[in-house]
Amino acid sequence: MPELPDVEIFRRLAERDGKGRTIAHVSVGDPGMVHGASAETLRHRLEGRRIGACRRHGKVLLLELEKDGALALHFGMNGALRHVARGAEEPGYARVVLGLAEGDALAYLNPRRIGEVRLAESAEKFIADAKLGPDALDPALDRAAFAAALGDGRQGIKAVLMDQANIAGIGNIYSDEILFQAKLHPAIPARALDGEARGRLYAAMRHVLETAVASGAGAEHFTEKLPKDFLIPERRRGGHCPRCGTEIRSLKLGGRTGYYCPNCQKEPAEN
Ligand SMILES: [Zn+2]
Repeated sequence: MPELPDVEIFRRLAERDGKGRTIAHVSVGDPGMVHGASAETLRHRLEGRRIGACRRHGKVLLLELEKDGALALHFGMNGALRHVARGAEEPGYARVVLGLAEGDALAYLNPRRIGEVRLAESAEKFIADAKLGPDALDPALDRAAFAAALGDGRQGIKAVLMDQANIAGIGNIYSDEILFQAKLHPAIPARALDGEARGRLYAAMRHVLETAVASGAGAEHFTEKLPKDFLIPERRRGGHCPRCGTEIRSLKLGGRTGYYCPNCQKEPAEN
């Protein structure tokens, strides 16, 4: 599932291949994935317009349009953004294709049809309406702001990290990696974390997300490029902790399966 690092890779692709270029033709292969406007209106609003800044907030890619408006792309479970060279065959599962004036295109793919393409008045309005918390890599999200964003609730820290209203960008896979790096059990309630633990979690979050982006998140052989002490390549039933060799354990939290090392990430004490 595309999380912050994957979407950052899509953002860079959009910036490299789409920014400053004119959308000549929009083809909507699946009108059901278009929100905030009909497929007809989407075409009308985009055709002839130039793509401006390519932004990302959490797991959402925001393609700003010259003058006004923005196209928000949410990738759901297995969506992606691809550049299609002029004359090349359209990739499978292309739900919305932005054909560029020079004949190449940006294609929004989404095999499982979870996610959306939304026409918004502006990137800012989209972020506010979606009630997204600060982006996990926003320079303005410092240690203190992060510590405050976690709150003091009873909810397990993994769920807190994954709640996009607290911090935007972290999902099931990266929350596991961040907690592994911070040596924190996924079920520890936020209220049990002191300032030192919150600081450790903040450092782990930045380290994990930045390392994943730098390693080309989502690309082929991506997990082989990760540092040797990362959990992701072993994050499965029967996997072993890259630090201590203990068998990885899984647990269900809020409908999602999390993975952790029972030796490095100790169970929270009863309280
Ligand atoms: Zn371990």
